[in-house]
Amino acid sequence: MSLFVAVVGGGPAGLLAAQHLAEAGYRVRVYEAQATVGRKFLVAGHGGFNLTNAEPQPGFATRYGLHQGRFARFLTDFSPDNLRQWVTSLGLDTFVGTSGRVFPTADYKPAQLLRAWLTRLHELGVEVHVRHRWLGFSATGLRMRNEATGQETELQPAATVLALGGASWAKTGSDGQWVAALAAVGVGSAPFAPSNCGAEVAWSTFFREKIGRVPLKNIALSCDETTVRGELMLTDYGLEGTPVYALTPALRTALAVSAPAPLVLNLKPDLTPEQLVQKLRKPRGGKSLAVFLEQQLRLGRPVPTLLRELAPAEATASAEALTQLLQHLPIPVTGLRPLDEAISTAGGVDWAAVDEHLMLRPRPGVFVAGEMLDWEAPTGGYLLQGCFSTGAAAARGVRQWLESW
Ligand SMILES: Cc1cc2nc3c(=O)[nH]c(=O)nc-3n(C[C@H](O)[C@H](O)[C@H](O)COP(=O)(O)OP(=O)(O)OC[C@H]3O[C@@H](n4cnc5c(N)ncnc54)[C@H](O)[C@@H]3O)c2cc1C
Repeated sequence: MSLFVAVVGGGPAGLLAAQHLAEAGYRVRVYEAQATVGRKFLVAGHGGFNLTNAEPQPGFATRYGLHQGRFARFLTDFSPDNLRQWVTSLGLDTFVGTSGRVFPTADYKPAQLLRAWLTRLHELGVEVHVRHRWLGFSATGLRMRNEATGQETELQPAATVLALGGASWAKTGSDGQWVAALAAVGVGSAPFAPSNCGAEVAWSTFFREKIGRVPLKNIALSCDETTVRGELMLTDYGLEGTPVYALTPALRTALAVSAPAPLVLNLKPDLTPEQLVQKLRKPRGGKSLAVFLEQQLRLGRPVPTLLRELAPAEATASAEALTQLLQHLPIPVTGLRPLDEAISTAGGVDWAAVDEHLMLRPRPGVFVAGEMLDWEAPTGGYLLQGCFSTGAAAARGVRQWLESW
């Protein structure tokens, strides 16, 4: 049988690794457990679909937190500019939104991008085998099961890229079940935890019924030392939206110490406390707090109800107390939403188990890419970019490994 490289997992990390290897002249076979590839990529497309971000370096790499040094290197394998050029090479285009997020242009749907990509892979000779699940390693190869027939086989690829995803949105195929197969060959994984997910707050029944689902625009939200600006969504279970997603690492740490963990909401982050207190010192007359806040600060529904829910009446009695409350409103978070609902997963393959080329130390010739590695990043394009860049880095690792034979 002729030599081939196996890419297991047909998400963005795996498919990009496949493309780079095929372009380098290797025979590539992609194995995907589901009936179609790129399911989570398409789910991402139903929301904002930030492909990457226009933030320049070195700021971009800092979004990968503890792993920014590694990601600064991976980003040189496939940079945000490379990602945008790659979309162009597929005959489509991107634009930069006001927030720096990079989106597909309005004239095509994410499914079209995936279709154009699969066409390119086909032209490059990449074979895609869907309904083929990796079960684990044999002595010298990969144990696979054909999900359609139940038949088990063994593959002997020249090299392998595993890009099996994290453990959220299991219905897209990223079920995290690969942990045991890697543990069997001595590869450890940090426990999975939800990242970029909503936070739970034990609202009163009154609040839940009255508020339902309402946005709070132009706010700042803090947990410990970290503050994030943006739009927060109040929901019946608690909070969601970009600021709370970005604070999940800090909230996770705080919740591990004690629950509830305090999030601090600033409803008027663009005003200094002095400016705010001045506005609030204006005579209220006979107006209710709700009318006064609306007139003075354009803080309408649901702010008065939120203040009533979270603070005693005396906390709104004076201009000074109200200023403090509007800029430091503590919201007690009792937990994070379940892993399966999260946009991404923290935890995954230990960095100690891979070398600088993303090759598994206990299993030479097997490389790992994408969300299955132990990293997390905020929404805004940093997740897909991290998956693409590690896919490219793993492909380079494979090339160097095979060339060194
Ligand atoms: C609702 C939502 C919105 C999102 N929006 C954005 C966004 O706007 N911007 C952004 O940057 N990111 C976004 N993301 C995150 C992004 O989609 C993921 O980070 C990315 O898809 C992960 O890529 P991956 O290739 O590592 O893994 P995945 O895309 O999860 O792909 C892994 C593949 O491996 C397959 N697989 C698993 N186990 C096996 C096995 N044993 N054998 C064979 N195949 C297997 C799975 O079926 C799957 O197809 C969003 C995610 C969600 C859920």
